[in-house]
Amino acid sequence: MVIECRWCRSGEGVVVLDLGAQPASDHFPALHDAGPDPVYPLRMWVCGSCGLAQLAEDATTPEEPRGVEPAALVEQAADAVSRVAAAGLLPVGGTVFEYGSPHGGSWLGLLADRGLTATDGQADVIVDCFGMMHEPDQAAALRARVERLAPGGVLLLQYHSLAAILGGAQWNSLRHGHYAYYSTPALATMLQQCGLVVRTAFRFDLYGGTVLLVVAREGAPDGSVAELVVEEESAGVLRPEVLSGLQTTVGRSAGALADWLHERAGTGETVLGYGAASRSVALLCQAGVDQKLLPAIADASEAKQGRRMPGSAIPVISPVELMAARPDVVLLFLPDLLEEVRSRLPGVGTWVSVEDLGRGTPEE
Ligand SMILES: [Zn+2]
Repeated sequence: MVIECRWCRSGEGVVVLDLGAQPASDHFPALHDAGPDPVYPLRMWVCGSCGLAQLAEDATTPEEPRGVEPAALVEQAADAVSRVAAAGLLPVGGTVFEYGSPHGGSWLGLLADRGLTATDGQADVIVDCFGMMHEPDQAAALRARVERLAPGGVLLLQYHSLAAILGGAQWNSLRHGHYAYYSTPALATMLQQCGLVVRTAFRFDLYGGTVLLVVAREGAPDGSVAELVVEEESAGVLRPEVLSGLQTTVGRSAGALADWLHERAGTGETVLGYGAASRSVALLCQAGVDQKLLPAIADASEAKQGRRMPGSAIPVISPVELMAARPDVVLLFLPDLLEEVRSRLPGVGTWVSVEDLGRGTPEE
């Protein structure tokens, strides 16, 4: 199969992560649908020319359901808007256009509070918060955003950083429907090629490492951009031989999950999960976990409740059902939710974050 870069159209590149045949992570079958669930190749490819990490192919028809907006995302949006304004980079008054994302997290309310009016045309502020990665044609998507940017305006482009995926062994961020995995150096070059300047970069802890670039048609970058580019380059985000290290983390984290669940089963402790997310789908499939080991996963999304996980076939229940089941331990698949779920669901036993499994065990 010929792969062509979604940005520069080069055919030269390397597959750095191959998860094999995976179910579409946004397809939650009916509870008694016996399957088998259709599976599709799931691979990350890095362009040898421009360095953009991307989904090699996607034979699914992504219909990512709009998730329930986590409090962490809402808080981060407010923080981001304050930081851009404090840096003097947010136009006072004028218009705003937002490219939405199925992850939620609209900034329009926050920007209306700062005097910006929503428009459908060219805008002084363009917001793209986890939006552009959902576009199969990255070149067309970025061009559209540039054309919409009014002279003197700013493009606020926020993404889950490839450096965080690499540094945090977040191989299960790879999913159908997410076409691009941005590093700051690759994305900054794409923006420069459109005649834009990255004025500054802000970092956030969301998803283990999120970056917001403030981009304009003119002006000069500040030191934060070069600093982040250098840091990510030295972490190896442009080097396929480093990125392919993600492949070795797959077995390690899947093994840690399976071992931990078997240990809990051995002690007789009851464990239920929380967070029927795409990340959980891939991890459970790789770990070979079924409902004997993990009888149910709770999720706040009503669209998923009463259905089952693709692949692993674990039933999805509501948070109320989770509380009623009184498990000894709740395994949290979405670490960003920890504070929120702990306070919303009191009395359900110990919360354990999936990213902490296998930690403290020396690597072999
Ligand atoms: Zn390319």
